[in-house]
Amino acid sequence: MGCILGLVCDDCQATYSDLEPVNACPKCGGFLDAVYDYEAIRSRLELRDVQRRGRSIWRWRELLPLKDERHMVSLGEGGTPLHRCQKIGAKLGLPEVYVKDDTIGPTASLKDRSFSIAVSKAVEMGIKQALTYTSGNAGGSFAAYAAKAGMQALILVNEWTTDEKLAMILVYGHQVIKVRFQTFAEVTELLRRVNTELNLYQFTNFINPFRHEGMKTYAYEICEALNWSVPDWVIHPVGTGGGLFGDWKGFNELRRLGLIASLPKMVGVQPEATPAIVIAYREGRQVAAPAGDNRKTIAQSIAADAPLGGGKRALRAIYESGGSAEAVSDEEMLEAIAWLGQEGIFAEPAAASSVAALKKMVERGDVQREERVVCVVTASGLKQPEASLSMFSPPPVINCDLDQFMTMARRVWGEIGPTR
Ligand SMILES: *Cc1c(COP(=O)(O)O)cnc(C)c1O
Ligand SMILES: [Zn+2]
Repeated sequence: MGCILGLVCDDCQATYSDLEPVNACPKCGGFLDAVYDYEAIRSRLELRDVQRRGRSIWRWRELLPLKDERHMVSLGEGGTPLHRCQKIGAKLGLPEVYVKDDTIGPTASLKDRSFSIAVSKAVEMGIKQALTYTSGNAGGSFAAYAAKAGMQALILVNEWTTDEKLAMILVYGHQVIKVRFQTFAEVTELLRRVNTELNLYQFTNFINPFRHEGMKTYAYEICEALNWSVPDWVIHPVGTGGGLFGDWKGFNELRRLGLIASLPKMVGVQPEATPAIVIAYREGRQVAAPAGDNRKTIAQSIAADAPLGGGKRALRAIYESGGSAEAVSDEEMLEAIAWLGQEGIFAEPAAASSVAALKKMVERGDVQREERVVCVVTASGLKQPEASLSMFSPPPVINCDLDQFMTMARRVWGEIGPTR
């Protein structure tokens, strides 16, 4: 299975066993990161074996943190399509635009990659009870995997989450508490105190050391789909930065293993309403200060006015890769939803932000015509339908009457004739 060696703290370099149920570093509060024996991975990983193991992220098991296969909790996560999007490409004058389509999957968001890994690892550690905070998508995914594993989950949900997201969590059979707050810093402080004072294991991104490990599989799947070549740009919606940071770690691992020869530039996207990481990037800082208001955007899944851990990991991925950070408006995300719709992809606003950011980068001249771009699209539009519905007037209604049909069909379609 996984060739994990243990955990190391980003800030004080203290090391811990990967079987110790720690969240943030007990010595300094820094985030922990899994380290691996890459020599062992190099000798054990056979791409032929990987290809024989089905489609889920667990086909990359040597690079994942689980030691014993029996602890694996899987619902068929990952293995999503990389679509070449010619209509979006034509609008932007770019021949090679791809969408990594994480609108599909067990709970219809990218979170399944991370919760399959983190819940499996928790099973391996013998954890029976745990907590996460969520704006909705993380909660749905945690709830599904905890249900499958028989773990008792307590889920703190942002008060304004959608009914679609809430229904999912409740059906999986877990306890939900809605939480009300002005700034995300209040949530972070609550989670920190719950962790240190009650010692309750947590699944919030980065506070949990394993969730971003699941996001490494983006890099593996993207490079495999491109026949082991590397895109020039990979654009991620950013909430905590777990997707962006994990993906960046994955690309670096592939290069270390000699499977790819170069690295992409990583772009993080935030809503204009909560642009903490974008501001830090523009000012060249390593740590982001809180900025904006969570309630002022439709991109609920990435509305984070106070970036977790000062956004240090997201900023690291951006700087190390030579990428950038972009802010997009609600209108720009709605336009991107419509563009994705023409490709047959239905995204929620946060999920479409990567495409909105690409448009801005092209207009600014930051992306060249010959460059190859991957936009990660992170959750289904079914999760937040009212945002997309706001773009349309309600459809007309008729009785089952041919005259009414003809009148209405002519109105919406123009002339009606034989199909061919
Ligand atoms: C959680 C989420 C993200 C952001 O993921 P992070 O790892 O927190 O940066 C992006 N899009 C959607 C739809 C999400 O639910
Ligand atoms: Zn530490």
